[in-house]
This record gives sequence, structure tokens and C-alpha cells, in this order.
Amino acid sequence: MPRVYNFSAGPAALPQSVLEQVRDELLDWQGVGASVMEISHRGKPFMEVAERAEADLRELMAIPAGYQVLFLAGGAQTQFSMLPLNLLDGRESADYVITGHWSEVARKEGERYCRTNIAASGEDSGFAAIPDTAGWQCDPQAAYLHYTPNETIHGVAFDGVPEIDNATLVADMTSSILSEPVDVSRFGVIYAGAQKNIGPAGLTVVIVRGDLLGRAAPQTPKVYDYRRQAEVGSMANTPPTFAWYVSGLVFRWLKEQGGLAAMAAVNRRKADKLYRTIDESGGFYRNPVDPPYRSRMNVPFTLADPSLDETFLREAESSGFYALKGHRAMGGMRASIYNAMPEAGVDALVDFMKHFHSNKG
Ligand SMILES: *Cc1c(COP(=O)(O)O)cnc(C)c1O
Repeated sequence: MPRVYNFSAGPAALPQSVLEQVRDELLDWQGVGASVMEISHRGKPFMEVAERAEADLRELMAIPAGYQVLFLAGGAQTQFSMLPLNLLDGRESADYVITGHWSEVARKEGERYCRTNIAASGEDSGFAAIPDTAGWQCDPQAAYLHYTPNETIHGVAFDGVPEIDNATLVADMTSSILSEPVDVSRFGVIYAGAQKNIGPAGLTVVIVRGDLLGRAAPQTPKVYDYRRQAEVGSMANTPPTFAWYVSGLVFRWLKEQGGLAAMAAVNRRKADKLYRTIDESGGFYRNPVDPPYRSRMNVPFTLADPSLDETFLREAESSGFYALKGHRAMGGMRASIYNAMPEAGVDALVDFMKHFHSNKG
């Protein structure tokens, strides 16, 4: 059975070798005679999986010792609530930087718990650029500043970590974590739903600076309390064990690939090839984002003649390119090219796009 090149935004492609290992040990995991899905999360065999995954993630991201790494159930949007519950600590406001769909959804959820100050917004540019930090209007009383380094739907991304005064910088890295090295020490909290660039859906990785633990509001559900989860190894209740195990295999795969610097180099090449094809098409294909802010993970593009969209998508699918349809908010197409998308997949897509252009242009 042939596998397609999968450009899904999320849940997204996983490395083939990881899926093969999962398949090979699905029924009898490490001689236990049962699947890793079927064993206790508290037994020694699974505890080893959990610890190895954390150790590998710490090594990959060079996470400083003063940070806790949590493997929690729920999605990125669960963190939209957990952040204010854990970080407000009696304060009444938080800063949010709005750069597209997800940062605004995060702010709206935050608004249920506190006053959210829009420190900056890219809305005026149609989210085609990241507002310059020099113009950000931060609230000196804000408990934290939340931003989204890579906007999955708008395809717009920060170029580097913003320099701001707030000591508690919070980043939703759902669609960019592990795509390049990042200086974790700059952040209070980094979180990422697993289903884009880590592993299967149902798991969220939260990296939280130690001094931020123990501040949860009294009504915080036990399983939402960062300190409680840190104390019990993310096992305040049953964690998503299968997703945790698969994510651990992905971490090992990333180490085999040479780590995040090596991934960043490949990711940059992949994105450059795609944007060059778009930009050199003489307007046949278009991407609306200012070049310095273009995402290297999610590449939205439109056709000058949208009546060709359906034909493009149909022909792409029959040529083995899966899930290129754009988000409904943006229309057109979107190619998500996370770590697991091989460069050969991008090369093949570029060939297809050039071919389609010369046939229909
Ligand atoms: C996909 C996505 C989300 C939503 O994730 P869920 O796990 O479905 O809650 C949030 N933020 C970003 C940046 C995303 O890409």
C-alpha cells in the first residue's frame, strides 16, 4: 500500500520509521506479551518510557534544570485555561499579542479569567506581518505575556524570541516546537499540543519554569495544577500513555537526524523551495505574508484564479499529495511541512505545482 505525502496541518504526518516500529511492537511490546497501550502507567516498564521521553526531550531542547516538563492530557486549547489558572496568582491582567487565529482564541479564553490587554495586533496588516516589538503596549501589571511563535492558519511566524520586559513570557509552540533550536531560558512557559510536530493527538507538552509552580488559583482542578502534576510526574490521573510512547519514539528519531539544528536546516530548505516556487510563478500562485515573517511550517497559498482550486486539489490528491486544502478561514491551499515531511515530499510538490502552472497558466 503506497503512503501519500501528507501535508495535513494536524493531526499531521509522523516519521515512517516511527510508525513501522509502532507496528512491529504493537501486539507484544518489549516481550511483555501485551501492547504498550494495555499496561499500567505506574508500572516500571511504562515509567521507563516516560522517563526516557522526558530525558530525550530535555536533551533535544537543552531544557535547563530549573524547568519542569509535563506530559499532560488535553490539547493546546486546554492550556488556554490552565495558563491563567496557574499564572495569574491574584493579578488581574495578562498581555496577549495577536498575530492570527490561534493567539486570538487564546486571548478569548484568557478573558474568562482576567482582563486581557492586547499588547499588539497584526490585524491591520491582515496578519501578513508580526508587529514590531518597539510599538508593543504592554501592561506593567500583567501576570504574563502570551504569544504564538507560529500561526498555523495564517502562516505567519516570529523571527526569533521577542525582547520584552515581562519575565513570564508564554509561548504556544504547538506548530513550531522541535522545528529549530530555541533558548528555553527566555520563557516562563512553553506549551505544545502534540499532534502537529510531536506525536499523536491527546497529549500536550508543557515546559514550565520552576518558580511559576504553586501559584494556582484555589478553584483550579487538581489535574490542571502545574505544581501538582510536576510533583507526581504528570500522573495526577492516567496520562495519554500511547501518545507519550509514540512521542518518545519521535524524540529518538529527531536525535538520530542530528537534533534540532539539523532539523532547522532541512526545514529552512523545504520552506525556501516552496516559497520560491510561489514567488517565481508570476502571480499564478500567491502567498500573502511578508517574507521575513513567513512560516517555515505552514505555507498557505492561493491561485490567482480560485476557480482552479478544486482542479488543483483533485489532481494533487490523485498524484499522492494529501490534505493540501487550505483552512476554511483562508481558502486556497496550505502545505504543512513539519519535521516528518521529507524534503523529497516538498521536491515532488514543487514539481507538481510547476507542472500544474504550465498546463493551466
Ligand atoms: C492546532 C493549534 C491549536 C489547537 O490545538 P488543540 O490541541 O486542538 O487544542 C492551538 N494553537 C496552535 C498554534 C495550533 O496550531
